[in-house]
Amino acid sequence: MFSHDIIIVGSGLAGLRAAMEVAGHYDVAVLTKVYPSRSHSGAAQGGVAAALSNVDGDTPEAHIYDTVKGADYLGDQDAIEIMCNDAPRTIIEMEHFGCAFSRTQENRIAQRAFGGHSFQRACFSADRTGHALLHTLFEQTMKRSGKLQIYSEWYVTRLIVRDGVCRGVVAMDIKTGRTEVFHGRAVLFGTGGYGRAYQITSNAYANTGDGITAAYRAGLPLMDMEFVQFHPTGLYQHGILLSEAARGEGGYLLNGNNERFMGKYAPTKMELGPRDIVSRSAQTEINEGRGAGPKKDYVLLDLRHLGRDKILERLPQIYHLAKDFLGVDALDEPVPITPTAHYSMGGIPTDNDCQALADEKGGKVTGFFAAGECACVSVHGANRLGTNSLLEAMVFGRRAGKKLAEVTSSLPLSPVSEKEELAAARREVDLILHNKATEDLATIRNELREAMTNKVGVYRNAGDMEAAHEKIKELQDRFTRVKVTGGAKFNTNLVEALELSHTLEYSELIVAGAQARQESRGAHARDDFPKRDDQNWMKHTMAFRRPEGGFELRYKPVRVTRFQPEERKY
Ligand SMILES: Cc1cc2nc3c(=O)[nH]c(=O)nc-3n(C[C@H](O)[C@H](O)[C@H](O)COP(=O)(O)OP(=O)(O)OC[C@H]3O[C@@H](n4cnc5c(N)ncnc54)[C@H](O)[C@@H]3O)c2cc1C
Repeated sequence: MFSHDIIIVGSGLAGLRAAMEVAGHYDVAVLTKVYPSRSHSGAAQGGVAAALSNVDGDTPEAHIYDTVKGADYLGDQDAIEIMCNDAPRTIIEMEHFGCAFSRTQENRIAQRAFGGHSFQRACFSADRTGHALLHTLFEQTMKRSGKLQIYSEWYVTRLIVRDGVCRGVVAMDIKTGRTEVFHGRAVLFGTGGYGRAYQITSNAYANTGDGITAAYRAGLPLMDMEFVQFHPTGLYQHGILLSEAARGEGGYLLNGNNERFMGKYAPTKMELGPRDIVSRSAQTEINEGRGAGPKKDYVLLDLRHLGRDKILERLPQIYHLAKDFLGVDALDEPVPITPTAHYSMGGIPTDNDCQALADEKGGKVTGFFAAGECACVSVHGANRLGTNSLLEAMVFGRRAGKKLAEVTSSLPLSPVSEKEELAAARREVDLILHNKATEDLATIRNELREAMTNKVGVYRNAGDMEAAHEKIKELQDRFTRVKVTGGAKFNTNLVEALELSHTLEYSELIVAGAQARQESRGAHARDDFPKRDDQNWMKHTMAFRRPEGGFELRYKPVRVTRFQPEERKY
C-alpha cells in the first residue's frame, strides 16, 4: 500500500495546476494513465479565453454573458462569474510561467475570434495552444516537486469512499500489472472527458471516462451526462479536430453546392456561431442532401482565401492534419469535414471549490474533489463555448489546489482495508479474464460507438435513443463473456477491457438522461421536442447508481444570478 497526503489522478491542465498549489506543502502523488505530457490537454489547438484589455470594449462581464448564453442558460452563473473574472489573471500567470503565446505587431498577446464570443478573446500559441500550456505547467510542477511523486502509466480503477469519506484509490501499474491501494487524506480527480463513447470523435484514446465511472461506482452521482458537445469541423471519417481557430482566422464552411450555408442559420455570426448551432447546421445540410462528395456525406472547410502565409503561420497543425490524413492540401482545396464528438459537458458534480457533491441537495463527499473536464461545476451548462475549457481546467485546477492546501491537514487519514479493496479490484479483473470468452472486445466497442454516433448524436429522437439504450444493455450483457488474452504484465488488452466496461456503464447514462429530457437545449437537440422548455427543464440531471442494480435520475435547480433566460439568437 502507498500512502500520501493528497492523491491527484490526472496530469492534464487541471491535475497539474492543482498539484502546483500543494507541492512543497504536502506529500503529493500524481497518478496518470498516460505520460503527463500526453494528456489530452496537449491536443488542444485553438485558444484559451480571457477578456484582456488588449481588445477594445471587452470585459469579464461580456465574457460572463456570452458564456451564460452559450450554455443555453443551463450553466450555474456564480461558477461562470468566478471563471470569467479569473481569466485575465490566469493568462498573465501562464505567461509569467513561460508559456509562449502568439503576439500582435505591438508585441501584446494576440487574440483571435471564436464561436459564440462577442469579442476577439482567444489567446493562443499558433494552433498548438494546449501543447504550450501543458508543457509550461509540467515544467512548473517539476520545478516545485518537493514531495511530489508522479506515477506515470498507473491506471486507477476504483475510488475508495466509505461512510461519505474518501480514503484513496486503487490503481494498477500498467507495465507490471501490479495492483496497489493508494491511501490518502484527500483525492482530486482531473481525469478528463468521455468522448470515446463515440465512433467519430476528436478525443484521445485515453478519454474513456474512467474517473467519472469510478466515482459513480463509489456511490457518487453524475450530472448532465446527456450533454455531449459535437464540434462541427472534424476531419471526414476520422473525427480528428480541425480547430475552430480555422474559422476564427476567417475560414468558410461550404456545402456541396459551394454555398456558405451558415448565412441561413446564424446570419449575424455566420461560421462563428456557437458550436451546437454550427454542428446542427452542417448536419442538416448533409441530412437534406446538400453535402459534398460522391456520397454527399460531408461539408467543406475552405481556407484558400486566407493565403499561404496565414495558413502556415497561424494554422500549421490543421494544414498538416488535412494533408497527412486525407491527402488534401488546404492551400489549394477545401477540406472535407463532419461534426465530431468533442467535449463532455457532464461529469462529477462539485461546488465552486471543486469539492464533490454527494446528492442533489448539496451534501458533500469529505476529501474528494474534481476539476477540469471530468467535473461538472457547471460552467458550460448545455453547450461549452470554445476556449472556455482550457480556462476552466486552469482556473478550477488552481481553486481545487488552494482548497486542498487549506483543508488537507485537518482531514483524517481514515482507515482502509487493503485486503478488501484489493480483493474487490481483483474480482473486477477476474470477471474479465475468467469468463466464457466468446465475445470479441473490439466488436463490442465498435457496436457501442456506432450506436452512440448514429443514434445519440447531433440530432436525437425517442425511437433512436430507445434503440441505442437496448443496444447498450445487450452489449453490457455480451461484455460479461468478453475475451481478453495475455497475462497480468503489460496487458493493454486488459486495460482496454476495463476502459470498455466504464464506457458501457456511463454511455447508458448519456442515453437515459437524453431520453428523459423532453426538450432541446444546447447540444441536446431532439427532433421530437425541438423547443427549449424552461418551465420544466431548466434543471440539472443527476444520475445515481442503485446498489441493487440500475440507476435513478433526480434533478437539481440551475443557479441564476443575473441573466434571466432569453431566446438564443446569433
Ligand atoms: C482535439 C481537442 C482540441 C481542443 N481544443 C481546445 C481549445 O482550443 N480550447 C479549449 O478551451 N479547449 C479545448 N479542448 C478541450 C480541452 O482540451 C479539455 O477539456 C481540457 O484540456 C481537459 O483538461 P483536463 O486536465 O480536465 O483533462 P485531460 O487533459 O484530458 O487529462 C486527463 C488526465 O487524466 C488521466 N487519467 C484519466 N483516466 C485515468 C485513470 N483511470 N487512471 C489514471 N489516470 C487517468 C490521464 O492520463 C490524463 O493525464 C480540446 C479538446 C480536444 C479533444
